[in-house]
Amino acid sequence: QRTSPPSSGVSGISICGVTKNFGSLSVLEDVSLEIEPGSFVALLGPSGCGKTTLLRIVAGLEHPSDGVIRIGNETVVDTAKRIDVPSNKRRLGMVFQSYALWPHMTVEQNIAYPLRKQGVPRSEWPARVASAIASVGLPALLDRRPSQLSGGQQQRVAIARAIAARPRVLLLDEPLSNLDASLRDQLRRELRMIHDREGITTILVTHDQEEAAMLADLVAVVRDGGIVQVGSPSDILDRPADQQVASFVGYGNFLSATVLESAKGRIELVLSDGQKLALDHAGEHMPAGKAVVIGSRSHELGVSTGAPESGDISGVRGVLEATTALGRWRERRVAIGDDRLVIRELAEDDATMEPGQTIWVTMSTTAPVLRR
Ligand code: ATP
Repeated sequence: QRTSPPSSGVSGISICGVTKNFGSLSVLEDVSLEIEPGSFVALLGPSGCGKTTLLRIVAGLEHPSDGVIRIGNETVVDTAKRIDVPSNKRRLGMVFQSYALWPHMTVEQNIAYPLRKQGVPRSEWPARVASAIASVGLPALLDRRPSQLSGGQQQRVAIARAIAARPRVLLLDEPLSNLDASLRDQLRRELRMIHDREGITTILVTHDQEEAAMLADLVAVVRDGGIVQVGSPSDILDRPADQQVASFVGYGNFLSATVLESAKGRIELVLSDGQKLALDHAGEHMPAGKAVVIGSRSHELGVSTGAPESGDISGVRGVLEATTALGRWRERRVAIGDDRLVIRELAEDDATMEPGQTIWVTMSTTAPVLRR
């Protein structure tokens, strides 16, 4: 897990019991999250789960129906005490999906605008603007207007504007989703570098698990207006809390099973066709009799005609239903009791298997065992 040294004056964020209703629609329900000073947190979830609303509440652009938010030692919202510090007094930097630059201002004026608002003496502006520009890797385009810049350059200006005012917290709402893939990748790296260099506590809203895993120290998975799992990127990707989180982070294969016994990091399971299987298990305790699923990504599974022998690979018997050629890949559909698994392998290996044939599906002994 990456950690960044908090520089002086860096603030943590505390979100306590935040609820938000729009009329009769409940969008957030009793959400709490502690964010350490200087950390990079991703709010990860599907469209409509409420992650943007939570970020906007931290920003002061939306007001919670209930709850408390503290930034550093300052309470910025407390519904019970009727505290609600205006957005422009919260000392935040914000970057959104749309760059939201002022079209009539030059790059320099855009970046300096928050400095003016904050009352930074004019004599300090050039140095602050230059340092923010250098931070985001923009060439000297100070006199251009936003319309004369590419999308990537505009987003760099938006990031420079957000950090020039030395905010306590940086809030990013899908800032890279309008950019093409290679530019997005480059700017992701730069966002992480900016965070590490400036040490600003950062919250990123994203629906992209890869982006969350690449940037964040801590990922909070949001679903249906609540946080369902908080952990490091590897916690979330390797030990998702349940089947729904697993599907969301790229697990495509689920084998249903019932727990026979679980102790000392091992779990014994029985599959729907009566086969038994033992796996390593580091996740939540699963009592005997519990209905679970074993999650795998399609490239983590393999097929073989014999039982696997290696110690860190387990095997279960199945019946090959079909093989589909997909360019350099080959997909095998295998029936195991009532379940169907799809296994993707490189088509290079010469493995002739006939539909109807009994084969072995191999999986890692650390494949996660999840609540259904
Ligand atoms: P997306 O990635 O699509 O923006 P999200 O997870 O960020 O999704 P939110 O934008 O927070 O989700 O929206 C959560 C829910 O709240 C949605 O059902 C949305 O329609 C609703 N919502 C958001 N803002 C308002 C509003 N001002 N009035 C009424 N409903 C709203």
